[in-house]
Amino acid sequence: MLQIRGLTKRFGGLAAISDVTMEFPAGSLTAVIGPNGAGKSTFFNLISGAFRPDAGEIVFKGETITGLDRAAIVRRGIGRAFQVASFFPSMTVAENLMAAIAAHRGQWGDLNHRFPRQGVRDRAMEVAEMLGLHDNADTLSANLSHGDQKLLDIALALALEPSMLLLDEPTAGMGPEERWRMIEKVQRLWQQQHLTLAFIEHDMDIVFGISSSIRVLCYGRLLAEGTPDEIRNNPAVIEAYLGT
Ligand code: ADP
Ligand code: MG
Repeated sequence: MLQIRGLTKRFGGLAAISDVTMEFPAGSLTAVIGPNGAGKSTFFNLISGAFRPDAGEIVFKGETITGLDRAAIVRRGIGRAFQVASFFPSMTVAENLMAAIAAHRGQWGDLNHRFPRQGVRDRAMEVAEMLGLHDNADTLSANLSHGDQKLLDIALALALEPSMLLLDEPTAGMGPEERWRMIEKVQRLWQQQHLTLAFIEHDMDIVFGISSSIRVLCYGRLLAEGTPDEIRNNPAVIEAYLGT
């Protein structure tokens, strides 16, 4: 589904991502882990087109997408949610979703909230429902709980009909119980929408509990990849990350 070869991104003298090669097979649920500053968010930013790589190639569904801008990459089917949720705080949940859907469909004329074209509103409610946000459809986004704001951020990515979804720390800032509620939703989404999903996560119970495959980044390099059992028992991973 997604193939990455020799990907490199420098910030001044620092190689945030350094010669990274890996694949994400169709339908996989992959965790990307590693210490703070390892380059995980940068890696997602490169795939989603927020940053341009200095070297390397990104191939999605057989097509090279290296260096395309974010809008072009979204149109090809890669969606992403952010470490810090990103939406219009002064708009309701439904309005945020309708804006995303209308923009994606090139229907900016539909942004008159009082008379949204019915199809856009229906689709917004459908996406809200996928994440259990439908009861909050008319809530001002700024007034949502932290967890619901993270869900809205994922919903906004989903509204653009991705076949692959990148989630940067979907459980950041959550207590243990709320974390698992989020992860159950993510897992259900992955199954029901037949997504290829990659997520950055620090909670190892979650990582080992739900991933089909794990990639470990360290100092911008791919330190290890494998199944949860392989990663759990990998001496280099234990030394660089798990042991601490
Ligand atoms: P992680 O998500 O694994 O914690 P990041 O990808 O955010 O790591 O950061 C990797 C390294 O790149 C860090 O040293 C960080 O300071 C640096 N970095 C990230 N984004 C930028 C940027 N826009 N400009 C300069 N340096 C950056
Ligand atoms: Mg990060």
